[in-house]
Amino acid sequence: MFRAALITLFPEMFPGPLGFSLAGDGLKRGLWSLEARDLRAHGLGRHRTVDDTPAGGGPGMVMRADVLAAALDAEPDDGRPRLLMSPRGRPLKQAQAREWAAGPGLVILCPRFEGVDERVIEARGLTEVSIGDYVLSGGEIAALAVLDACVRLIPGVMGKLESGTSESFEDGGLEYPHYTRPREWEGRPIPEVLLSGDHARIERWRREQSERLTRERRPDLKP
Ligand code: SAH
Repeated sequence: MFRAALITLFPEMFPGPLGFSLAGDGLKRGLWSLEARDLRAHGLGRHRTVDDTPAGGGPGMVMRADVLAAALDAEPDDGRPRLLMSPRGRPLKQAQAREWAAGPGLVILCPRFEGVDERVIEARGLTEVSIGDYVLSGGEIAALAVLDACVRLIPGVMGKLESGTSESFEDGGLEYPHYTRPREWEGRPIPEVLLSGDHARIERWRREQSERLTRERRPDLKP
């Protein structure tokens, strides 16, 4: 079973949105599990301190290597990849989510403040993962995004097996446009080909649309 462990100063943020809909049903049905650990439990002294001022000066606070390591070491060493949410990390890709979803789960460190002491990244072999080229105020929302991308791929979580294989990024490109009833809305009809019943034509139209959108919006995805 896919087991997610989160290390955070705000464990009450979890499961949050992952407690609803497909992911939430899967959680209740035991298809995956989630545990949010309070980093503060490993904090130092009376104030349970987890951070300190940056060596070399500068703004903000840095999370201490010893505190983070204690929290990581409290997790069973069972081969789960250990991730650190970070705008410096490798951008998350669908293929990576698919690989993690097929594995034993993830241990995810969700930092706050300026960042974490570099030494804990090296010493505990953390994989830095980014969810895009923008800066969030903490790792929790990024971790939710990573987990959502993985959890929906766990067998049984999504209703239909084929959903999830014909989607954006699965074959390299963006998905074709969707339509449903009513047949005409605010003067806009559904493209005639989709009502033709000709499956070969529909398939071709969808492929063309997908290629056009990918070319226009994400030329980096396909040659
Ligand atoms: N000083 C850092 C930003 C810190 S933001 C820098 O310039 O790179 C605080 C925390 O939010 C980060 O430690 C990280 O855990 C999380 N975070 C912010 N943006 C993120 C992103 N795009 N992807 C993943 N995590 C992010």
